[in-house]
Amino acid sequence: MKIGIMGGTFDPIHLGHLATAEFVRESFSLDEILFIPAARPPHKLCRHVTDEIHRLTMTNLATRSNKFFRVSDMELKRTGLSYTLDTMDALHKQFGATTELFFIIGADSLADLSKWHESKKLVARSHFIATTRPGVDVDFSATEKFFGSAASEHIHRVTTPAIEISSTEIRERVKLGRSIKYLVPEAVEEYILREGLYL
Ligand code: ATP
Ligand code: MG
Repeated sequence: MKIGIMGGTFDPIHLGHLATAEFVRESFSLDEILFIPAARPPHKLCRHVTDEIHRLTMTNLATRSNKFFRVSDMELKRTGLSYTLDTMDALHKQFGATTELFFIIGADSLADLSKWHESKKLVARSHFIATTRPGVDVDFSATEKFFGSAASEHIHRVTTPAIEISSTEIRERVKLGRSIKYLVPEAVEEYILREGLYL
């Protein structure tokens, strides 16, 4: 088995996340993609993050029509800060040695991967699929310099279709009363409006 892990704050989940995940699934012949909403991302402590129940519900709504997509609340259930190393260790244990795990990471996140908790251990133990993101240039030589041979062996780069959407933009648009149609799945749009999120 080969499983892709799509981690994120998903505040809210949008078509950029979904289209990227589907493209990666097909390109790398992954058996499924596991979406894992993050509890309290260590690097986002400065901004208000929407209640986890809303982010989890929206992730469920957004992924339900794809039989290869699954959602895990494992990071939400864990207490304290959520570190990817702990998540990947728990998943390796859960799935066993016959399953390969691929953490899908966007270009903006790859740029600060070296600053993640125990990042060298993390890259040594898991595969990464580094995707592109419009407006973000990544200096991969800096990544290679930091992680050494683990970078070329464990970080697989792929050019993904450019979809210029961010959760920040969605939140701003809702606040301004502007349309988010076709930027998030219809069910997510309806949920945001019904629950009065991001006002
Ligand atoms: P925010 O604006 O709040 O930071 P975001 O849109 O960046 O939200 P995150 O939940 O922070 O979304 O991202 C989770 C993962 O998805 C990251 O690895 C990020 O790089 C990737 N990602 C987010 N949006 C896109 C996109 N439009 N195209 C490709 N990858 C994306
Ligand atoms: Mg982001």
